[in-house]
Amino acid sequence: MPKPTVGRIVHYVSYGTPSGEYTSQCRAAIVTEVHPGTEGRGVSLAVLNPEGLFFNQSCAHYEPDGAGMPPGGSWHWPEREES
Ligand SMILES: [Zn+2]
Repeated sequence: MPKPTVGRIVHYVSYGTPSGEYTSQCRAAIVTEVHPGTEGRGVSLAVLNPEGLFFNQSCAHYEPDGAGMPPGGSWHWPEREES
């Protein structure tokens, strides 16, 4: 798994609402900072929501394991669509 660097585009997992009105989604995000001492797992992100920009300075890495969405507030490398 490559380590993120500033300027890379990754996925940020949005939080869903408890009532399920909004579900957790993958959003495009630009790495704005890689936190020292985290082996590249902890980053700050500029999240590109359809409704606007949002900045999160504490995102942990959770790669999807095929058993549903990773936790809200985490980041992962963008999935590849099988053709
Ligand atoms: Zn994703």
